[in-house]
Amino acid sequence: MHTYSLLAHAKINLYLEVIGDRPDGYHELAMVLQSIDLADRIDLRANGTNRIQVHCDHPQVPTDERNLAYKAAALMTEEFPDTFSQFGGIDITIHKRIPVEAGLAGGSCNGAAVLVGLDLMWKLGLTQIELQELGAKLGSDVPFCIAGGTAIATGRGEQLSPLPSLEDMYAVLAKYQSLSVSTGWAYQTYRQQFGEAYVSNRQDLLGRRQRVHSGSMVAAISHRNNEQIAQLLHNDLERVVLPAQPRVAQLKKAMQQLNPLGVMMSGSGSTVFALANSRAQAETLRSQLQQQLADPDLGIWVTRFTANGIQLIR
Ligand code: ATP
Repeated sequence: MHTYSLLAHAKINLYLEVIGDRPDGYHELAMVLQSIDLADRIDLRANGTNRIQVHCDHPQVPTDERNLAYKAAALMTEEFPDTFSQFGGIDITIHKRIPVEAGLAGGSCNGAAVLVGLDLMWKLGLTQIELQELGAKLGSDVPFCIAGGTAIATGRGEQLSPLPSLEDMYAVLAKYQSLSVSTGWAYQTYRQQFGEAYVSNRQDLLGRRQRVHSGSMVAAISHRNNEQIAQLLHNDLERVVLPAQPRVAQLKKAMQQLNPLGVMMSGSGSTVFALANSRAQAETLRSQLQQQLADPDLGIWVTRFTANGIQLIR
């Protein structure tokens, strides 16, 4: 039986602004998201049963119904019950390369890959928009992970406007392997500390959204001005994560001392990334950081921006 293998790319946040609360309990956000070539490989194979089975040897990744890849497959079986009974159950194998609870959308991109893969395997012929609508039911980052590239994301992160792609930029990611930050904790703490300043009326909310669309980060991306993009990096969640996690703050400082184009935490952390104009520059940053911190717990990845979301490789 044919195995479908897909690459599921991680993302970083070039910009993340928390605007306010939403009636559905989520936060209203304005973000600029960027796919990078660090990716998990997801293999899908019909297993001749009527069950979904997830295999992953990463200790922090559950293989039961809590796994986003499992949830994506379960959603597809509910949406297309006849096709499911025709094709039967599937084995999903996750080859984890993206660090977990790192602010890189590792779980979301696995869910996205299963939606795209099952659409192909079951010959459903869904459009990208239809797949993204299904993805939004699984998680706010899933629609972006399907399309990939560079995009503005508003609402809870699921409303996307594509931006020109930035393939000539590199990001050096650094993360203490033993240090994870829960996304739920980061947003809850942000609400506790800064909730009073949240925008509450609809007019102001639309104004803030609009400000990102017509703002300087989007202009810098349109002009492919790497230096300016790096100067405009922004992440509101640093306000809660850096004070609570001094090692992340120290890591950011150590990266800044190497004078890259710019440095920022991704999403809710704990990954910090530095931008570079070339692979050579990025590799130099990597070895300098390794030498400076000399900590076996520190993972460092040299990655390139990519325009790809989910990619079928076999
Ligand atoms: P985001 O950037 O979207 O906030 P993240 O990169 O911070 O996500 P994930 O790596 O997606 O965080 O992990 C978040 C939680 O989801 C972990 O506690 C993990 O156990 C769980 N999880 C469920 N499914 C997966 C999956 N397929 N891969 C990784 N983590 C998963």
